[in-house]
Amino acid sequence: MKPAGHAGRGPAPVRPLPGPSLHREPEPGRPVAVLRVLLLNASHEPLAVVTGRRALVLVVAGKAECVVERPSGLVRSPSVALAVPAVVRLRRYVRVPYPAPPAVTRAGVLKRDGRRCAYCQARADTVDHVLPRSRGGGHTWENCVACCARCNARKADRLLEELGWALSITPGPPRRGVLGRMWGNEESDPAWEPWLPSAA
Ligand SMILES: [Zn+2]
Repeated sequence: MKPAGHAGRGPAPVRPLPGPSLHREPEPGRPVAVLRVLLLNASHEPLAVVTGRRALVLVVAGKAECVVERPSGLVRSPSVALAVPAVVRLRRYVRVPYPAPPAVTRAGVLKRDGRRCAYCQARADTVDHVLPRSRGGGHTWENCVACCARCNARKADRLLEELGWALSITPGPPRRGVLGRMWGNEESDPAWEPWLPSAA
């Protein structure tokens, strides 16, 4: 089944690959230069989405190995025939400097918590400071939770201990969405699923 985002786009024009003479066998779909390939770190952590061409260059150079091949399509050079990869993995681990967590926003907290109230699991539309700001609580990922309007009003400026309430989650910075919005349904590939963060 094709992802919805591809509907109606039709086959992309086949263009000759620049650079080394890699000849692609005819295949309905897109040229290797634009096929997208999930690049994994040696630790199997997803790093990036690269073009098929870039992935093959890494494989040919011995820097990456093909983890999942696409069901069809071979790329031939004078000496080798390579399967077009869907997923490749670097042979050597690379350290990636991770950016600081994003700023705390209402939308971000609601999204992180799946719009569920941290106290009663009802649908949440507000953000609560677990330790109220009036009592020194910070506007941080660790201190902000999604909260339904009812719980928020009941809680007001009180502490959880004073109410006998408990958090259903341990709040913290949102999971690093490896490349931000890259994992949206319209862009991900079913072959990548085992390596993608779950959409929780
Ligand atoms: Zn609630």
